[in-house]
Amino acid sequence: MLRLAIVSPCYNEENVLSSSVLRLKTVISSLIEKNKISNDSFILFVNDGSKDTTWSLIKKLHANYPFVKGLNLAHNVGHQKAIMAGMMTAKDMSDAVITIDADLQDDLSAIEKMIDAHYEGNDVVYGVKVERKADSIFKRFTAEAFYKLQSKLGVESVYNHADFRFMSKRALDMLATYKERNLYLRGLIPLIGLPSTTVDDIISDRTAGKSKYTLSKMLNLALDGITSFSVKPIYLIVDFGLFFLFVSFLILIYIVYALITGSAVAGWASLMVSIWFVGGVCLMAMGTIGVYLGKIYNEVKQRPHYNIQELLD
Ligand code: UDP
Ligand code: MG
Repeated sequence: MLRLAIVSPCYNEENVLSSSVLRLKTVISSLIEKNKISNDSFILFVNDGSKDTTWSLIKKLHANYPFVKGLNLAHNVGHQKAIMAGMMTAKDMSDAVITIDADLQDDLSAIEKMIDAHYEGNDVVYGVKVERKADSIFKRFTAEAFYKLQSKLGVESVYNHADFRFMSKRALDMLATYKERNLYLRGLIPLIGLPSTTVDDIISDRTAGKSKYTLSKMLNLALDGITSFSVKPIYLIVDFGLFFLFVSFLILIYIVYALITGSAVAGWASLMVSIWFVGGVCLMAMGTIGVYLGKIYNEVKQRPHYNIQELLD
């Protein structure tokens, strides 16, 4: 029988954990009853360096419920690495892992569908957001624009899938062999290549607490997602550069022509405009190269993604 681990990253989630644990308990109990998972299946809450009482709450839940385990990371490493920590810890204690955000905005009924899909032969099952009514218009718009840009730039990932996902132990063992430091799981996991499918995920409101994904965290994730999986931006810069060279060549021809015909005027405004414009383009180009350089720097150092302070097993 499948021993399932539900891995949930928690950053300052004291407001939501107590209700989340009860809602997950219902799901687990019903799956055990239907003989779809073993009765020693469990939840692993990963405390990602919370500044509130999240960890003491997890300890309390662990004491009260036999199916709750806890992992305390030494400091805040962010959503992606917290999930990675949880998956890598849980895989050695289970046959499969489902990752879900602690606020349970995802569709809990999709969990059973994921397990059914696994029994039909899939190693990875992606929850795909079919309805994002609960997300703000801004979030929905930026997220969908990002998924589209990403696929234009050649990053293969599942459209509208965040990190609500089922993975078999086999898939997790393979994921563990991908040693890259710049973690973007949504791009990385499709590279594993085992049989996979999707299930629908209807997003609902947070039951408590506020979103922990600030705009800057979202932008960082988006930038990581693209620059970790595509070098197209660098080629775009080269194309841009060539185009500008061509334009300046045309201007040169014009200047020679103006000098010959004696119609040259003191073009202060156009000069200023071009200086700023070209300056901006150069900075953008250098910045893009800098991003890739920074990534290489991070990869070379091979620092661990996370450090585990304590495991409540
Ligand atoms: N989270 C985390 N570390 C962070 C930020 C967020 O582990 O540095 C967790 C958070 O506790 C939640 C999940 O990542 O379980 C998604 O965050 P949230 O629900 O705030 O994002 P949203 O759903 O608004 O995108
Ligand atoms: Mg959320």
